Amino acid sequence: MSKTSRMLSGALLATVIFAPALQASAAEVNIYSYRQQFLIKPLLDAFTEETGIKANIVFSKKGLLERLKIEGKNSPADVLLTADIGPLHDAVEKGLLQTVQSDIIDANVPAKFRDPQRHWVGLTTRSRIIYASKDRVKPGEITTYEDLADPEWKGRICTRSGKHTYNLSLVGAMLEAHGQADTKAWLEGVKSNLARRPQGNDRTQVKAVKEGVCDIALGNSYYFGKMITNDKKPEQKAWAESVNLIFPNQNGRGAHMNISGAGITKYAPHRAEAQKLLEFLTTDKAQRIYAEANYEFPVKDGTPWSPLLKQYMGDFKQDSINLQRIAAQRANAAKLVDQVGFDN
Ligand code: FE
Repeated sequence: MSKTSRMLSGALLATVIFAPALQASAAEVNIYSYRQQFLIKPLLDAFTEETGIKANIVFSKKGLLERLKIEGKNSPADVLLTADIGPLHDAVEKGLLQTVQSDIIDANVPAKFRDPQRHWVGLTTRSRIIYASKDRVKPGEITTYEDLADPEWKGRICTRSGKHTYNLSLVGAMLEAHGQADTKAWLEGVKSNLARRPQGNDRTQVKAVKEGVCDIALGNSYYFGKMITNDKKPEQKAWAESVNLIFPNQNGRGAHMNISGAGITKYAPHRAEAQKLLEFLTTDKAQRIYAEANYEFPVKDGTPWSPLLKQYMGDFKQDSINLQRIAAQRANAAKLVDQVGFDN
């Protein structure tokens, strides 16, 4: 990088910090991120070190798709980074992403975690699992998502809202496996087994198991890691210690998987840099950092798991369905959740 361009990017950094929108310049890439900064920062530092490309992030919990839509061709954003397939799928439907063709990505990311139309790429994976009370649920007593509708569990299940993006994907997976009528009956069964109206987040449900409000809960796998290592809120370690982790459907289609992922925006001013970033994020080096930061699984086969994941989660069978098929069922899933009054 020349002295002039260093000065320029320094000036632009100031602009990025103080201006409401990111500014474009050479040898940089601008990211709109639903993933929190602390998860991404070490990765972006490694990316800049390796490529000389500066990476700027705008983090937000919501509204990034709307922002992309409003900004249109003037958007400074090159990459959309999300914590779930939901927003990526929505972004495709709204025409906000362009396709990316890369041998590196194809080699590193299994096809089931990539969009067949090439609009998005999975970067880390997580499973939606069953957290079961060590005291009140015997090993082997519940082994599948289908079991959740069994009357044996009446008044014993906790979950967050059925309309939450994680649950919509799970219902989408059920729709793919069983079709409309059976999935509706299943949802009704699960609803009638709930210990309380759906509320809170995934960790709230594990707390409720610990407190005896319910015996089993639905939650994403990485929350276990976040709880069991939580020195700031040590009570969460006790929540995590009160449960066994059940990866469902091990004798069948495998546990439901979701991704955190990314896509390149339709009007990316730094198209080439954006692709380099996505490619970098699929490499072993980045995969390790990224997965460990949030107790997720690397999307790339062969990237070593963190010791914690190995200790508590081991090997498990993953559903082999392409996530795009599940994503395509999400609208349908939302309708079903409403129809059965799941959240009422
Ligand atoms: Fe989450």
